[in-house]
Amino acid sequence: HPQAQRPVGLPRARYGGRNAVTMLPGGGIGPELMDYVKEVFLEGGIPVDFETIQIDPKSDNNDDLEYAIMSIRRNGVCIKGNIETQSLDSAIISRNVAIRNELDLFMNVIHVQSYNNIRSRHKNVDVIVVRQNTEGEYAMLEHESVKGVVESMKVITKTNSTRLARNAFELAKNNGRSKVTAIHKANIMKLSDGLFLETCKNMSLNYPDIKFDHMIIDNCCMQLVSNPHQFDVMVMPNLYGSIVSNVICGLVGGAGIISGKNYGDHYAVFEPGTRNTGSSIAGTNTANPIAMLNASADMLEHLGHRVHCDKIRTAISKTLNEDMVHTPDLNGTAKSSDVVQNIIKYVKSIGGRI
Ligand code: ATP
Repeated sequence: HPQAQRPVGLPRARYGGRNAVTMLPGGGIGPELMDYVKEVFLEGGIPVDFETIQIDPKSDNNDDLEYAIMSIRRNGVCIKGNIETQSLDSAIISRNVAIRNELDLFMNVIHVQSYNNIRSRHKNVDVIVVRQNTEGEYAMLEHESVKGVVESMKVITKTNSTRLARNAFELAKNNGRSKVTAIHKANIMKLSDGLFLETCKNMSLNYPDIKFDHMIIDNCCMQLVSNPHQFDVMVMPNLYGSIVSNVICGLVGGAGIISGKNYGDHYAVFEPGTRNTGSSIAGTNTANPIAMLNASADMLEHLGHRVHCDKIRTAISKTLNEDMVHTPDLNGTAKSSDVVQNIIKYVKSIGGRI
């Protein structure tokens, strides 16, 4: 299960041969999943130190958030769960969105690959979703202009569309992919999605070896469900990306499997691909730990710890495909801790402690 890598190296903190990484457990199942990551790293002798920051979901101030952002700026790299924002104060925006905006993490990449022995709608899916991560409907510019009329602004900029499109094509080129498909609704949103589509088209002219096509978001959803194999690399604005990512992750086994990567020019943040909180299953030892462990493997790849990354990915693949240790979301009966112990068994036997 090699993952598509962003072409450009980004800075990261390293002290005495060990990497420092910010860890934001978030709410719901986040803290237990992070405990599993720490356990696997400890047992595998993986040279990463975590700076763990818990953000209080009920807080009406942003002190924790600001501290977390400062930590990511210092370390360059972060692993996170989904952070809840329970404050009733409408001025307190989603902390997840705030982190992405503050750090200018303009790109989200989800590489969705099937695991052979997971029961799923489709086999052999292998699609890379490149999603704009900081604008579109997530600009969060909403107001009630007159009583009963709410306006919400969707922002598409040429700058962000251009750098997203460039990265999508570079990713395709560097990972031996042959096609990039832009997803849009330019037939209705002629100016905003029109700009996005036009930018992708123009960028494609610089990459004559990569086929370029485009598809309207509604047709895209239907095509994904009926024949996902036609897609290779997909590039799209923010909200479509949220929906498409969830559809594709659902096709290969659901929320507990696939990881996601957020990149800007300076920072990288790793998390489960579908960004769920999973409050309803928190503390039940049933959450699937794989998506977060895959995120930790992506993080190790980014840090340049190729061997450790491969160890975790191999352990995951053996656990899911050969030993079939599956949590209930995959129709199995294993506990989260059974999956983690099985992974640790392999992480220790492949290379062992360092
Ligand atoms: P919340 O109320 O905070 O939104 P939730 O559990 O109701 O939490 P989501 O966080 O949106 O819902 O998650 C969507 C679904 O995916 C839920 O059924 C959740 O249990 C499931 N899910 C998410 N992550 C995992 C995981 N790692 N393992 C198993 N199931 C998961």
